Amino acid sequence: MKKYNVEDLTGQRFGKLVVISQAQDYVTKGGVNHSAWLCKCDCGNLCVKQGYLLKCGRTRSCGCKVTEHGKDFYKHGRSQSPYYSSWYSLRKEGAEMCEDWGSIGAFCDWYEANDPGKFWRMERIDPSKPYSPDNCHFVKAHTLTYKGEEHTYKEWEDITGIDFRTIKARILYQGWSVENALTIKPSHRNRVKNNE
Ligand SMILES: [Zn+2]
Repeated sequence: MKKYNVEDLTGQRFGKLVVISQAQDYVTKGGVNHSAWLCKCDCGNLCVKQGYLLKCGRTRSCGCKVTEHGKDFYKHGRSQSPYYSSWYSLRKEGAEMCEDWGSIGAFCDWYEANDPGKFWRMERIDPSKPYSPDNCHFVKAHTLTYKGEEHTYKEWEDITGIDFRTIKARILYQGWSVENALTIKPSHRNRVKNNE
């Protein structure tokens, strides 16, 4: 895949990682190029991570944080469960919850048992009723699969450097093939300015 205009992440911080410089592209089995970045972790380790994983928040340390989380999970209960942040943001929004889900433990247990995977998000069936096991289901985000890789539009933007709105419009309204939508550079006057 011809890649261009991928955002320069040098100097940016993602969790415990600070990007030092661009590294050699990571090429998947299917032949998709992913920009990769040399990062320094707060623990002192150096590591190379893919840009889109940094930007979507799935990679936030060299790997040392996973171990810390594991410890915390047992030490402090559920505050480090991957579902904790979902519960917390719902509470922060002031979302109404059933009595059971007022307790984070019950919420995390239910979510963990029912979570269909990374491209799915939980939504209420009837938005006028509180969040509860009976009133929630999972909705899949729109994804595109190319050369055996499935990503959301936003992730493809981070991988290809093509704005996700452009990718979406090409696929949904202009009838482009996935390959063309992800590989053909848009002719955009502003881009010329940006590259100078
Ligand atoms: Zn580390």
